[in-house]
Amino acid sequence: MSELVSIRGAVTAPNTVEGITEAARRLIDRLFFKNRLQDKNVVNMVFTSTADLTAFYPARAVRESGHAVPLFSCAEPNIDGSLGGCIRVMITAYSDAPVHNIYLNGARALRQDICGSYAIALDGPSGAGKSTVARLVSNSLGITYLDTGALYRALGLKVVSNNVSPSDAEAVERCLKDVSVAIEYRDGAQCVLLDGDDVSGKIRTPEISMAASAVSALPYVRQKLLGIQRDIAAKSNVILDGRDIGTVVLPNAEFKFFLTATAEVRARRRYDELIAKGQSVKYEEVLDDVILRDRNDSTRAIAPLKKAYDAAEINSDQMSAQDVARFIIDRVEEDTK
Ligand code: C5P
Repeated sequence: MSELVSIRGAVTAPNTVEGITEAARRLIDRLFFKNRLQDKNVVNMVFTSTADLTAFYPARAVRESGHAVPLFSCAEPNIDGSLGGCIRVMITAYSDAPVHNIYLNGARALRQDICGSYAIALDGPSGAGKSTVARLVSNSLGITYLDTGALYRALGLKVVSNNVSPSDAEAVERCLKDVSVAIEYRDGAQCVLLDGDDVSGKIRTPEISMAASAVSALPYVRQKLLGIQRDIAAKSNVILDGRDIGTVVLPNAEFKFFLTATAEVRARRRYDELIAKGQSVKYEEVLDDVILRDRNDSTRAIAPLKKAYDAAEINSDQMSAQDVARFIIDRVEEDTK
């Protein structure tokens, strides 16, 4: 059932025709995309710009980009100490989706309650290069990185060490009932603590990958790890990589990306990684594992691997991790600087 909603946004811009045009259009594009708006559902859009933005009307920029809805611009009074060079918009629309207000660039400072920190959701199948990319992005932007797969791996390890079958839901639940799993950052590196012990070095084997994939299909396990992930994300600017970050864990994440690559390319990368670590594996086995994990991850009933509607898809077959990271960093910097 559609309801009448009011959606707000703001962006800062330089006082030039191009600057105002680009900023106003980008703000409206993001608002339309995030709120799944179409012109036919929009009642009107009202823009204001601060008194120093005299070069162009934001409403005209948006009309000339093809939006056929009632549009209106007006100037705000010049108030001492207020943020300058700022365009605000209020959209009235019929919608049945949750409202996303959007504040970009310098305007983020206007609504610290909404924009105090930001989250980047990076989802995709195993071996797409998410963790390498996330680490590069985290280092470059100076933000926290949470590798959520490590949490599932730690629980997989617990189950395997207790000789429990990862697909036996009841036995897994009994085994994990009192387990404690936590993340700590030591010298900037993520450590996974299982019942207080750092197990980071024990969770990257093919056996634990399969166990993690199996236990991650169980609602009990997903629920157990949801709070930990959200708590970490709430504390600071973060990048989380996983399978359901943009769809379930952080559906309101400011930035969402879905990283893919063919199964063969992903298996080759995983194989090279394991060989470099001195493990003895065969490429064909790694490929079979990748295909099986893809199937497990995308067909499970709860929180399956799925691109969020508002995630940007990146195919990394022909891109290096550095290229993908640069793409993400550029997007984030464009909106947060
Ligand atoms: O990403 P990584 O390969 O370390 O994850 C191990 C397994 O944990 C995946 O195959 C997937 O089944 C599961 N997982 C998940 N949701 C996440 C992260 C990982 O289901 N957010």
